Amino acid sequence: MPTIVFEGQDYQCEPGESVLDCLTRQGVSVNYSCKAGVCQSCMMVATEGEPTPASQVGIKETLKAQGHFLICSCVPETDMQVAVPDRAGSSFDTTVLSLHKLNADVVRLRLMRPDNYDYLPGQFLGLVNDTGVTRSYSLASVPGLDDFLELQIRHVPGGQVSGWVVEKLQAGDTVTISQAAGQCSYLPGREAQSLLLVGTGTGLAPLVGVARDALQQGHNGPIHLYHGSSTVEGLYLVPELVAMDEANAAFHYHPCVSQGTPPQGMQSGRAADVALEDFARLSGWRVFLCGREDMVRTLQKKTFLAGASMTDIFADPFVNLAVA
Ligand SMILES: Cc1cc2nc3c(=O)[nH]c(=O)nc-3n(C[C@H](O)[C@H](O)[C@H](O)COP(=O)(O)OP(=O)(O)OC[C@H]3O[C@@H](n4cnc5c(N)ncnc54)[C@H](O)[C@@H]3O)c2cc1C
Repeated sequence: MPTIVFEGQDYQCEPGESVLDCLTRQGVSVNYSCKAGVCQSCMMVATEGEPTPASQVGIKETLKAQGHFLICSCVPETDMQVAVPDRAGSSFDTTVLSLHKLNADVVRLRLMRPDNYDYLPGQFLGLVNDTGVTRSYSLASVPGLDDFLELQIRHVPGGQVSGWVVEKLQAGDTVTISQAAGQCSYLPGREAQSLLLVGTGTGLAPLVGVARDALQQGHNGPIHLYHGSSTVEGLYLVPELVAMDEANAAFHYHPCVSQGTPPQGMQSGRAADVALEDFARLSGWRVFLCGREDMVRTLQKKTFLAGASMTDIFADPFVNLAVA
């Protein structure tokens, strides 16, 4: 059985156990959130032994080369010595600029963009609350257009971080954020390609970032953004997205409501179903999927079966360990 050495102590792994489960089972306090290899909050560095390839998926090449890996996704094959990475340069203190309600559940949080803070719209960052708990939130802002960082956060009842944001955080407060990570972003090139963006709830945040970024980079192929909710009240940014649709020939906004009869200008049904009814063949398309994990995983398969190439499907399931 592999041994994990952490802060000078030896920990024995059970068969099939991840490094994260091995450490937490034995009472070690380490940072983690999604437990699904997505949020990167459990990243550590291997100072001896080899991280498994699965535990380095989605990590920047420079960090991979230094032995960084995700302990939630690493079922070790050999003994390893692991350490918390040097946090210098990977976390930033910044100031809350504003908090603004977008609907009954969702707030827009704008933060000052720290100097040297690089990101791509659609990536996510870690936001640390007043007790040190970290959760991932996606970036809706665009560096070339906005001088702030924008997050859109749904208030989960009892949520440690979303509750703190909604109930305690105020303009002028200082908060800690991590470097941005993730692959769900617009990369320039293939400007005439059709783009399909589908999101539920605050899955809209990264998609708005991606769409605005594509437009500002001169994308001229059609960009179809489907945003779904069970009720009209669950949607948000409707006037802004209607205005964006009217102002940009390439951009098409499709608000979808799955319960009751939707008002004029909105489509009836779940966003994922409506999008696939509108576009049954997706060969040559680039696809972005964000929000509820079940919707994202299902649509990932369906868009692939509809012809989109796996390398052209970018997905961010909003995994939460409590509901995963
Ligand atoms: C890559 C990524 C990007 C994300 N981007 C965003 C974003 O832009 N905006 C956003 O609002 N969220 C986003 N999330 C989700 C976010 O990270 C948190 O999971 C969410 O805010 C809940 O955290 P919390 O600390 O408030 O709740 P927790 O303290 O973790 O949970 C409190 C309770 O609420 C329940 N709960 C937690 N999450 C959910 C849920 N989604 N649905 C139902 N019940 C739940 C659990 O049962 C738990 O007992 C993202 C997640 C990932 C992995």
